[in-house]
Amino acid sequence: MTRVLKSDVLISGGGPCGLMLANELGRRNIRCLLVDPKPGTAFNPQANATQARTMEHYRRLGFAQEIRSMGLPPDHPTDIAYLTRFAGTELARLRLPTAAAAPQAIKAMSGSWSAAELPHRVSQKFVEVKLREQAQRLPSVDVRYGCLLKSFADTGSGIEAVVQAVDGGEPLTVQSAYLVGADGARSFVRKQLGLELCVVPHASAELAGPYQAPLVLIRPDQIVAWRGHTSALASEVLAQVTGRS
Ligand SMILES: Cc1cc2nc3c(=O)[nH]c(=O)nc-3n(C[C@H](O)[C@H](O)[C@H](O)COP(=O)(O)OP(=O)(O)OC[C@H]3O[C@@H](n4cnc5c(N)ncnc54)[C@H](O)[C@@H]3O)c2cc1C
Repeated sequence: MTRVLKSDVLISGGGPCGLMLANELGRRNIRCLLVDPKPGTAFNPQANATQARTMEHYRRLGFAQEIRSMGLPPDHPTDIAYLTRFAGTELARLRLPTAAAAPQAIKAMSGSWSAAELPHRVSQKFVEVKLREQAQRLPSVDVRYGCLLKSFADTGSGIEAVVQAVDGGEPLTVQSAYLVGADGARSFVRKQLGLELCVVPHASAELAGPYQAPLVLIRPDQIVAWRGHTSALASEVLAQVTGRS
C-alpha cells in the first residue's frame, strides 16, 4: 500500500534555494518536506562568492559568522588580482579584507556601502552543508536526500505528489498545500508545467544569469514563477505561504 505523508509545503530540490526556503519555513514552524535525488548536498564546488546581501540573510538567520569561518583560512587575503598570466606581471589589484578582518572592516565602511556584511569567499559545497545542518535542527522541517519528485497534480484543494527513493522501494504520496520547484535550471517542476526558462538576451543579464536561480511555486489554481537570487526567492515564497505582502 502506498504511504501518504501530509505537509504544508513540498520543496523539490535541495540546492541553496530549497535549503534556504526550508530554513525560512522551519523558523516559522511551517511543516515542509524537502526532497532531492542526490545522496547529499552538492559535491561540485560551483559558487565561490557569497554576496553581501546573501551574507545579510545568513546574519538575520544567526549563522553569518559560521559561514564566514568556512572557506579560506581566516588570515588568507581575498584580493582580486589581474595578471598577464598566472605567475606573470600584475596589472592591478583590488584589496579586500581577510575573513578575520571583515567584521571590523564593515564597521568602518561609509559612503554608498549600505550592507551590514561584506561578501565572503567560500565554496557553495560548504555553504550547503551549513544550510542543511541548520534546516535539520528545525522540528517542522523534513529533509530527504536520495528522494526524487516523480510526478505531481493539482487536486483543486492542494497538491498531490509522488516521491520515490532513488534506491527503489515503495513510492510515497505527498499531500501538501504548496509545491515549490527549487529544482534548478533544468527544473522538473517547471518543465512539467510547460514553462520556458527565460534568458534575457543582453550581455550583462547573461553574465548575471548563472548567479541566479529559477523557482516555481504551485498552489491550487495558481502558479507563480520567479528568477532571482536564491535567498531573495526564499523570501518571496515565504510571503506567499504566510500571506505576507
Ligand atoms: C561553475 C559555477 C560557478 C558558479 N559560481 C557562482 C558564484 O560565484 N556565486 C553565485 O552566487 N552563484 C554561482 N553559481 C550559480 C549557483 O551555483 C546557482 O545559482 C545555485 O546553485 C542555484 O541554486 P538552486 O537551489 O536554485 O539550484 P541547484 O543548486 O541547481 O539545485 C537544484 C537541486 O534540485 C534537485 N532536483 C532536480 N530534479 C529534481 C527532482 N525531480 N526532484 C527533487 N529534486 C530535484 C537537484 O538534484 C539539485 O540538487 C555558479 C554555478 C556554477 C555551475
